[in-house]
Amino acid sequence: MIILVLNCGSSSLKYQLLDMKNDEVYDLLAKGLVERIGSEMGGVKHQATGKEALKFEKPVPDHTVAVKAVLDCLLDKEYGVLSTLEDIEAVGHRVLHGGMEVICSKLVDEHVEAVIEKCCDLGPLHNPANLRGIRAVKEVLPTVPQVAVFDTAFHQTMPAYSYMYALPYEYFEKYGVRKYGFHGTSHRYVSAKGAKFAGLDLAHSRIITCHLGNGSSIACVENGKCIDTTMGLTPLAGLEMGTRCGSIDPAVVTYLMQKENLTPAQMDAIMNKKSGLLGLGGVSNDMRDTSAAANAGNPRAKLALKKLTHDIIKYIGSYVAEMNGVDLIVFTGGIGENNARIRRRVAENLTYLGVKFDLEANENKADEMLLTTPDSKVKIAVIATNEELVIAQDTMHIVMDAEE
Ligand code: ADP
Repeated sequence: MIILVLNCGSSSLKYQLLDMKNDEVYDLLAKGLVERIGSEMGGVKHQATGKEALKFEKPVPDHTVAVKAVLDCLLDKEYGVLSTLEDIEAVGHRVLHGGMEVICSKLVDEHVEAVIEKCCDLGPLHNPANLRGIRAVKEVLPTVPQVAVFDTAFHQTMPAYSYMYALPYEYFEKYGVRKYGFHGTSHRYVSAKGAKFAGLDLAHSRIITCHLGNGSSIACVENGKCIDTTMGLTPLAGLEMGTRCGSIDPAVVTYLMQKENLTPAQMDAIMNKKSGLLGLGGVSNDMRDTSAAANAGNPRAKLALKKLTHDIIKYIGSYVAEMNGVDLIVFTGGIGENNARIRRRVAENLTYLGVKFDLEANENKADEMLLTTPDSKVKIAVIATNEELVIAQDTMHIVMDAEE
């Protein structure tokens, strides 16, 4: 089944075209990116597997034009991979927020669109864009079934004592203020894949998954189900991130707003866009730049790295306590998959669990690898995340079931 996977942001659209034979066997036919949607001049990057890359600029006023640009690339005689759009059998979308109603991926219908719309309030940067992507596909490929795969869905198994904030209950009832958690598709994928890779039975396992990228979150996965995670009502909570501050004393917010005479939008921008590695380290939101600066002796860059390591160690410890133990800790995301130093620093504080870290294995680069010795009580693994594959898998199953 040929499936187009779309990840629509407010000003960008990432895509992959996959030919799914089954869950395990598939071909990546093409992938690419449309940037600067809504600006005067947009950019398109397209790469069909085994062919030369295509890169050009064109005005992309909205998501419908962006989707059309993707389809034109896929059909292109020289750079494309399809002879007719009829070959696209389904479209799968990454959707940020599904609120409390959504516990799994869904075939897009009026009700699902209404849920995504209702959750725009909770995911103001992403949900409107996700919806625009769905509506653009509806316009351009009206007969093709679409599936929405939600970032929040995997975390819906959290118990109330984990997801509730100790605020007046009325705010939960009135506005749905609670912890939702994000990166669910990634945590779901790497926990299942990690269990298999480490020889564990997912249904009887205690796994902590560390998704460390530009945005970072950790999930506590007991018997295959998420019972806690670091992100909250929004993706701002938890670990220090590229530009996000992570969890801070909530009183800091009102204190700084008063001191600096800030509007809610300005305070929001400080916490989401000017903090994290960038704000504390003062060099860049990117881990590679911050690491280079730290290596050159920059004390603030060193502090920002130390804080990230500290945050990871702290949350792992709290999740070990929640599950009364742990069998496997998984690293994933751009930092988790590539930064051996952070993994080593974290592992240095896990000897209390009986972790025997394999320093040599840790220096390797592979999509899947074990970082502990065979006699280690707790296993640590790197599993490269693949959210697009999960979206394609869910889309394939849901569309096949609907056709039966
Ligand atoms: P996003 O959350 O935007 O998907 P990624 O998962 O791609 O982000 O992670 C981005 C982070 O990963 C950046 O801080 C970047 O420095 C780091 N990163 C990506 N690739 C590498 C690499 N090869 N070596 C070290 N760090 C990397």
